[in-house]
Order: sequence, then C-alpha cells, then structure tokens
Amino acid sequence: MQKNRKILMIIIVLIFIVILGVMGWLYVAFNEMKYNLKGLHPTVKQSMEQLIKKSKQRGIEIRITEGFRSINKQNQLYQLGRSKPGAIVTYAKGGQSYHNYGLAIDFAIYDPKRRKIIWDLAYDGNQNGKSDWMEVVTEAKKLGFDWGGDWQGFKDTPHLEMTFGQTIWELYIQTKTVHALK
Ligand SMILES: [Zn+2]
Repeated sequence: MQKNRKILMIIIVLIFIVILGVMGWLYVAFNEMKYNLKGLHPTVKQSMEQLIKKSKQRGIEIRITEGFRSINKQNQLYQLGRSKPGAIVTYAKGGQSYHNYGLAIDFAIYDPKRRKIIWDLAYDGNQNGKSDWMEVVTEAKKLGFDWGGDWQGFKDTPHLEMTFGQTIWELYIQTKTVHALK
C-alpha cells in the first residue's frame, strides 16, 4: 500500500512536470507567433534575449511588441493615418523598414504588478531616479542595436535595429521581391 502511494506520487509529479514543460513550450511558441519573432535574424534574436536579461538585472521588465513584419503588413501599417483612419505609426512603406528583413524589434516596458504595458519614457519603475526606457536603450546600444529615438525627424522610440552596415535599398534588391518601392 505504502509503495503504491509512492509510485502514484511519482506519476503525479511527472505528469505535472510534463504539463509545465508543454505550457512553457506553448508560451514561447505563442509569443513567437504573436510578435513575429520567428523571422528574426539569429543575431538580432540572440541580442533581444540578452536585452531582456540585462533589463531584468536592472529591475526592469520589458516586452518585445514586434519583430519580423511582412511587406504586406508594412504596407497596411503605412496606410494608417493616410488612406485609412488613425494616427500615423510609420514612415516606411513595405520593404523600407528593417522589420521587413528581420533586423528590427520594438520594445515597451512592462509592469507585472499592474499587468500593464508602459509607453511612458519618463516611467521609473525600479525607482533609481533614471528613466527605465533610457536604461533599456543604454543596454540595447551596448548589444549593438541602433535606436529609433536617435533618428532625425520622426523618432520611433520603441524601435531597435541592427543594420550590419546594409542600407534598406541593398536589402530590398537582395530580396528580389515583387513589391515595388513606389
Ligand atoms: Zn520598429
């Protein structure tokens, strides 16, 4: 009787571990799908994971809100605030964004207590007197990312990219896509 109980306990624990494993795997797969992280360049993806880690060490939780973006989706976004109602969110047409080549990510700060995404650049959740957003940007630059907040003109503050010295035009030619840059 005692032995049966032990075996039963072991089986329950094993089932629990398997369920946790499957849930973890599903969570990763779901996020990859939702934020299009699958199409990211391996170096960008690795640096993104490092950035999440480095931010955490500073007491800042971040969320990656966008990764790879198809040329079609980019064109749809471009229409916002132009031929479609809404605010302008991008100045890049399909093929003109580093997102279209898996070389860019967008991030935001996450507050786990309120379960809220934070876009406020002044937010100081770890209360060290510094903007959390700029702390993440500092870490991102150390990892080799260029920051959209440094751009002349339109500033894209959630945006981080790695160009590897390639211009958008060079990338565009390489992909030999049928979409025209008009
Ligand atoms: Zn972006």
